[in-house]
Amino acid sequence: MLLKDFEPGGNVQKRRSDIAKLVSHSREVWRQSLKYQEVKRNSKILGKSGWFTCQTCGRETEKICIDHMIPIGKQPIDLSEFGAWLPRLFCGTENLEGICSDCHRDKSKRERRKK
Ligand SMILES: [Zn+2]
Repeated sequence: MLLKDFEPGGNVQKRRSDIAKLVSHSREVWRQSLKYQEVKRNSKILGKSGWFTCQTCGRETEKICIDHMIPIGKQPIDLSEFGAWLPRLFCGTENLEGICSDCHRDKSKRERRKK
């Protein structure tokens, strides 16, 4: 993958699929980041291995989503969007919280409606 592949003019489909790969790899790196791991660790229930407390509804859950409180916005489709999106993905822990999948689904629904 070369940077010139992302410049306007070339194969748009190819460029979009390359950007989609950058996005999915970036998310993967983010999930391994110290900030992500820290927020996940802070959601853990002490003495109850594999269980977390949802920071929105307070319920106990085995499946925690590390969510951006201020949404990072729609998936980038070109290099300039990607450049703006990446720092939002790798934000500070103050913008991250561990929430259960129900709360995550409700929040995503609300955000979609706002657009
Ligand atoms: Zn919840």
